[in-house]
Amino acid sequence: MPKWFLDSMMPMVTVLQTVVLHGVFLSAVSADDVVEFFTDNGFGNAVATIQHPCAEYAAGKTFLAYQGPHEDPYVCSYDHTTGRWAGPFKAGVSALGTRPDPTKPDNHGRPALVVDNAGYVHVVFGGHGGSPLLGHNEFGAHGSGQQMHAVTTRPGDISSWEILDNVPPFGTYSQFVKMDDGDIYLFYRHGPHCSDWVYQKSTDNCRTFSPPVSVLKFKAQQDDPNIRDSWYAWFNRGKGDTIVCMYIYHPCLAVDHNKQRVNVYHMKMNCADSTWENAAGRELILPVTKESADELTLVYNSGTTKVNHGVCHVDETGAAHLFFRHSAGSVRYTRWLGNSWQEPTAPTTVPGSQDGDMIVDSPTSIRLLLHGSREGGGSEVCWWNSADGGLTWQKGETVISSPDVGYNVSSFVHAATPEAQIIVEEHDPRSSDLHRRLFLWGEKGFVGRPASEARVSR
Ligand code: ZN
Repeated sequence: MPKWFLDSMMPMVTVLQTVVLHGVFLSAVSADDVVEFFTDNGFGNAVATIQHPCAEYAAGKTFLAYQGPHEDPYVCSYDHTTGRWAGPFKAGVSALGTRPDPTKPDNHGRPALVVDNAGYVHVVFGGHGGSPLLGHNEFGAHGSGQQMHAVTTRPGDISSWEILDNVPPFGTYSQFVKMDDGDIYLFYRHGPHCSDWVYQKSTDNCRTFSPPVSVLKFKAQQDDPNIRDSWYAWFNRGKGDTIVCMYIYHPCLAVDHNKQRVNVYHMKMNCADSTWENAAGRELILPVTKESADELTLVYNSGTTKVNHGVCHVDETGAAHLFFRHSAGSVRYTRWLGNSWQEPTAPTTVPGSQDGDMIVDSPTSIRLLLHGSREGGGSEVCWWNSADGGLTWQKGETVISSPDVGYNVSSFVHAATPEAQIIVEEHDPRSSDLHRRLFLWGEKGFVGRPASEARVSR
């Protein structure tokens, strides 16, 4: 063999070996280094149950929205056919991201997400009252941020977004309710505490909305104007063409303001004629005031004990099941028995707050998926199940558990598949880093993602 040939072969062999080794190295990494989280650029309290749904399954993909860096809305999608993830893509710029102290995120403008019947993905985000520069707020006061609406430029493709200037800037706690016929209701509080809760209806895939309709009235009490009636509400699909709601009361003091929240309420909307009624079927006059709420929609009188909003679902008979958060720790569950509300029960006696969402399989089979404190210390996300209509509870499967870090959860993915049901957020109380790892959980565990995709450079 001529020497020139050997000389020329040597580098080639080296190159070939390198290519092969590099190929082995790459395949080894991509095979082994699948992580359980789908992103690490959640920011602050990146998901919560009140801005909901923040995720939806549609046409083979699960779409997930969350609060990312600068409180901007970010969206990922998981393709159930190919097993591949897309995103995170930034869907818009939140006006809450320019706060003076970035270590204290506002968190009110987390995105809510809906997929319309044409396949476009929408997020509403960024609001917490809006400044007076944004105009007169006919349903309340001013605050910060700006409620905005972004939509994908193509159906099912989250890589490109545009802003639709068609929602009031004052809204916060944005919530979507989608009906079987494709009508979409957008509920929100029309500003800070001193504001009504309203809805707007869209019959054209959120290209236009009806003017806001006030549902819950903010007002100063006649006898003591220092006490102003304020609310926290959670809206959801009911049976058929109805929407159900659970809400709690905040006595919003003008002087000596505090975070007191009391009492639990429920009501229902008949979408066919836009009427509202209580659990017993008595019609309500809108907007519902504190006086009429106390008289007609009260589920639980908490006295001076602090409670907070939870979620509300219905069984096949249309009866409402709800849970609310209780200052003593565990959530409290109750359901409508046809003529009264069942005495609330607590799934656990472990102290520490809980929150999450609920699946009502039947009037007597109820499952709660909650984050909360772990017996003996630490945090966990686990199921609590009842087979007797919520009279007794058994601890079910643990989704995730740790002695060190804490968890939050979103509400359930709307129209979820069994393998992708809820977003879990992890936060480490020992760290000042506000970036969060987010996990998508389903019956096969966490939906994994290659580390190179899940670790977002910041
Ligand atoms: Zn207040």
